[in-house]
Amino acid sequence: MGCDGGTIPKRHELVKGPKKVEKVDKNAELIARWSYCALSQEKLRRPIVACELGRLYNKDAVIEYLLDKSAERPNTEVVVHVRGIKDVKELNLTDNPAWEGERANSKGDRYEDLHCAMFICPVVGLEMNGKHKFCYLHTCGCVFSERALREVKTEICHKCGDPFQDDDIMVLNGNKEEVERLQQRMEERRARAKVAKKSKKNKAAETVSKPEDTKENPAPPKAGSSEPKAAAENGEDGGSSGPGLSSSSSSSSSKLSRPIAAGGGKRSIQEMAEKSEIYKSLFTSHSTAKRTKEQTSNWVTHTPYHF
Ligand SMILES: [Zn+2]
Repeated sequence: MGCDGGTIPKRHELVKGPKKVEKVDKNAELIARWSYCALSQEKLRRPIVACELGRLYNKDAVIEYLLDKSAERPNTEVVVHVRGIKDVKELNLTDNPAWEGERANSKGDRYEDLHCAMFICPVVGLEMNGKHKFCYLHTCGCVFSERALREVKTEICHKCGDPFQDDDIMVLNGNKEEVERLQQRMEERRARAKVAKKSKKNKAAETVSKPEDTKENPAPPKAGSSEPKAAAENGEDGGSSGPGLSSSSSSSSSKLSRPIAAGGGKRSIQEMAEKSEIYKSLFTSHSTAKRTKEQTSNWVTHTPYHF
């Protein structure tokens, strides 16, 4: 194979083998999940929320997604189970005193210390850098290392004192099995909520129908209580021409109520055979004057005479 110009190169000399796929540093990917929003891929910054599958997000990214779900964005498949802002929980994280903030990393003259986490466990001080398992409580959103929750058995939150149950412990960025378990629990929780909502609705319907019944009852006494008043008015009217009774409404009402007083009771008017139906309909005791459920208000600001 001298350099005589007559050499024929073999295939392997011309064609390079398949490109070596650059291995994604699993460690780096894992760490990235703890410092970047799962939706927007931006650096996590407060307020940070977690979904029911234990993923971490920037709250504003989730809100942006919820405001317009139809907009095309990458990564929306990670939040399809988030129906509303109530499906995510704002996390109560504990700052790591050793964290130097963004500036320390942006200088560029030093190796980005991925092991220095922004947050720590408030109980045992472990850094939330992906090396240790962390959980949040679904009830209050406080975040702890799993070790703290396991070693210090408690039924109230270490940080804020809210009571919680084992079922409220949500693993953050868990492995496949843990996420599957969270998914199962999420579905169970949602099914329970649906049932509770239904029964609540039924209860609400019951309580709504009850006041209507009680509302119906006080209506006749209302009309009845007006009778003595009318009688008193009549008495005043006959006794002295008081200046307070000069208004047209009171005089017309007293005119109307006079026959009632003469009849000696409201029922007698409706029972009088010699009176016409139209005459009877002038009075509140008539069936047409009775208000239906919808027309009955909770308080009465007028006198019943105006009907
Ligand atoms: Zn708490």
